[in-house]
Order: sequence, then structure tokens, then C-alpha cells
Amino acid sequence: MITSELKQRDITQNFINGAWVTPSTEETAPVFDSNTGSVIGSSPLSAEADVDAAVSAAKLAQKEWRTLSPSARADYLRAIARELEARHEELSQLIMREVGANQEISRGSQTLTPIASFNIAADILESYNFVENIGDNLVMREPIGVVGAITAWNFPLHLVTVKAAFAIAAGNTIVIKPSEVAPLTAAVLAEAVQSAKLPNGVINIVFGSGPDVGEAIVTHPDVAMLTFTGSTKAGMRIGALAAQKVAKVALELGGKSPLVILPDAPLQEAVEFGVGDLLLNNGQRCDGLTRMIVPKSLLPEVERIARETMDAVLVGPSTESTSEVGPLVSKTQQDRVLGYIDKGISEGAKLVTGGTDPIETAEQNSQGYFVRPTVFSEVTNDMAIGREEIFGPVLSIQSYSNVDQAVEIANGTEYGLHAAVFGSDIDAALSIAARLEAGMVTVNGGESDIRAPFGGYKHSGIGREFGRYGFEEFLEIKAVRVPKNFRN
Ligand code: NAD
Repeated sequence: MITSELKQRDITQNFINGAWVTPSTEETAPVFDSNTGSVIGSSPLSAEADVDAAVSAAKLAQKEWRTLSPSARADYLRAIARELEARHEELSQLIMREVGANQEISRGSQTLTPIASFNIAADILESYNFVENIGDNLVMREPIGVVGAITAWNFPLHLVTVKAAFAIAAGNTIVIKPSEVAPLTAAVLAEAVQSAKLPNGVINIVFGSGPDVGEAIVTHPDVAMLTFTGSTKAGMRIGALAAQKVAKVALELGGKSPLVILPDAPLQEAVEFGVGDLLLNNGQRCDGLTRMIVPKSLLPEVERIARETMDAVLVGPSTESTSEVGPLVSKTQQDRVLGYIDKGISEGAKLVTGGTDPIETAEQNSQGYFVRPTVFSEVTNDMAIGREEIFGPVLSIQSYSNVDQAVEIANGTEYGLHAAVFGSDIDAALSIAARLEAGMVTVNGGESDIRAPFGGYKHSGIGREFGRYGFEEFLEIKAVRVPKNFRN
């Protein structure tokens, strides 16, 4: 297994029209190993001219790509999935370092979901009914054109592939700007695309910063749709820019997701579930259950279970198989999360465990971006840690006197991505689920399914990814009015 000998990865070119093309600038952004703080690679900080070249290639390629039969397009998608599968371990190793995700998630959803995305998009494409009759009209679904995709660093490959797979399945071509913080797996995707012999220009990747490359994609007149995953702040900016040219947007943004534990819930199981969900990917998840909303009478017991569960978690380098929680992605992210912990203390929340002290073990040298898994209790929605997205291993426990108040607290932030309920009476749990303002609700620890829609209400976004719903985001709708005497 490769661990420490993984070579430095410098991405020096963009992937445009099926080839590696030198960018118009010489600037680069470093990529850091989250475990050590050392530089393990770099990617270009490209400019508008590089976006122009990629969009031109995508526009030209789309003319032919949209005319291929669904099964021909599906074959290419499955070929990309096979190429990614062949490089699964290499991709996992890159994510372990650039994001700090532990081995289980790096080899699991971080890399398996991207492979599955291409296969599932191929399945949907082959079975999809592109034409429907409504009265005298034929309603047709058509590709939109050139799609621009801009993505975050926390699931660096998945966020790119869920957009690329479903956009191109629908007959579009795409120009992608991966996160400059974690760009390395996007270069492997480009190589997989080349090996799969995808027609030139169908998938293009331009590396660079948000304000330069990102905004050049968003404002480009030939980019017909934008699909974005990232912070609500950047999503609002992208939505505002896209509105200037009336382009469609799909936005997957932030979250502050609540877990409502009902009075009759199996408490140990419910609290352990909540803590486990929060810690996945070291707390760097838009849909992490970061708020635990519990009956006031059970608060001491909940605090005890949460503390014991958190304190038993092994924090360490993601490159070690025993580590359950690894470092955060960057020094910026570490400082941001530590800042929120300080804020929680100064705003009067009760620190149950964790805090801002450095992690003390020999391997976790001071340069890695570690943060202690932390639990706060007696949190309210008017505290920053109760309403703002922290994006780290920090849990906020809130208490309620009756279930109406629990729902009010749960719905009391600007976000609405994910929510969860735990209770012994399934009907009562489902009735709470129906009242929660969230695009996804997990009841009693139910599993997600990547064929089901993923996305949020309120400031968590617009549109859905995954499965048929994600596929349809990338289609235009045309009603064709045909006189009766001309129809079969
Ligand atoms: P970010 O918003 O800082 O950056 C995301 C991407 O947008 C990056 O590629 C960045 O370069 C680009 N960008 C930034 N400003 C831009 C601009 N003005 N125009 C165009 N592009 C711009 O977010 P991040 O720190 O990379 O990721 C963390 C955020 O992503 C969190 O808020 C998290 O909740 C969110 N996220 C959401 C989902 C979801 O599915 N809802 C999934 C993962 C992450």
C-alpha cells in the first residue's frame, strides 16, 4: 500500500478538448498534506483566456455529443467508471492527504460514489423516457448546452463527478473548475477520461481560483447552466451573476443540520448515531448533523453519552488505519473551527468536551491541521455555534421542553439541507420528519441512497443532485404542439 512514498503531484496544465494545455499564466496554488502541513503538489491558477478555450471546445463538442444515442453515451460513462475503478487506491491516497479524510471514507464514499455516479447516470440515461405526451403536445427533454461546474474541497472527486456524470449523460458538455484547495483527483479524472476515449471537449477541466476562473465560467455567454457546490456566500454571488444572463443554476450550499431526539428514543443509540454522523469526514460535511436537539429532562444523560462517545474517538493522521478522525483540510479551516470553539465559549455555551488545546500525540506533529472533537451543550440558535456552519468536528447540543419547540429550534436557522429524527414510535417520528424544513430527513438512522435526490431547502440550495432528479436538472423542457391530423 502506498503511504509515505506517494509522489509529489504538480498539475501544470488544464485539460481542454481532450488534451493537456499549458495555461495562459504561470501562477500556481500549493496543495498541502493535511496531516503534516507539507506541500505535496500544486495546480495552475489559470485565467479567463483558459476558460474561453475550454468553453469553445465544449461548445463545439456538444453539437455531436448531444446527437449520440443514449446507449453510446452510456458506454462512455461506464468506460470512465472502469478507469476510475482501476485507480481507486491512488485516488483514496490522494484524498487521505489533501482532505485529511480517514482511510475508511477515503476508500469508501469519497471514491466509490464517483465510480457509482458514472454507472448510475448510464443506467438512468438508458432507461429514461425523453418524450412524453400531454394532451396534444409532445413534451421533449433536451440537453441544455455547455454546463459550468464549480466545486468545493470536502469531497473533491465526488463533487466533480456527480456533476460531470449526470451533465454529460444528459447530452451536455462541461467545463469544470475544481477547488484549488484539493485539485489532485480532478487531474486523475481527466486521465481516466482520456483513457476511456471520451470524445474531445465533452469534459474540460480548468484549474484556478473562484474569483478568476470561477467567475469567468459563470459570466461566460456560452455557458448555459451553472452547477455549484460550496458555501452559501459564494453560491449567492454565483446566482446573482448568472441572473445577469438568465442562466439556470443548481446550487448545493451549506448546512446546519439538526437531529431531533424524541423523548422515547433509545438514547444511547440515538446520541451515538448523531456523534458518528457529525464526525464523518472529520466534520467537513455540508449535511453533517451538527446540532442535537434533546428533551431538557434528558440533557445530563445526553451530555454524558456524547462526551464518552467523543472521548473514545481516535484522532490521528488519516494515513494510519486506526485513525477515526483525521486533520482538517487546511490551516485556514483549522483556524476557522478553533475560532468557532472560542466563540462558543465566549458566548456562554457549556463546553462538555474538547476545546482549542492541541492534540497531544507524537505522530500528530504541530503542523497537521488537527482539532479536538468538541461538544458544546446549552447552545441556543442566537449563538454563532447554534446557527452558523462550522465545518469541523464540533457538536452543539440544544434542549427543548415540548416537541413543537423542538421543531421550531430545528427549523430556526437559515439552512435546510438535512435533518434527522430518532424515536421509538415511528408514526410520531415520521410526523416530525414532515415538519422539518430540509431536503433530506433521516429517520432512526436510515441509510441514504445515491439514486434518491440530494439537496436543500432555504439557503442550502436550489435543485437536486443524484439519480433521476439530478439527471433532470441538466435537461431543458420543450413542449411541441402538433396538430392532431399530423400525428400517428
Ligand atoms: P467555497 O464557497 O469557498 O468554494 C467552493 C468553490 O467555489 C471553489 O472551487 C471556489 O474556488 C469557488 N468560488 C469561490 N468564490 C467564487 C466566486 N465568487 N465565483 C465562482 N467561484 C467561486 O466553499 P469551500 O470552502 O470550498 O467548501 C465548503 C462549503 O461547501 C461549505 O459551506 C459546505 O457546506 C459546502 N458544501 C455543500 C455541499 C452540498 O451538497 N450542499 C457539499 C459539499 C460542500
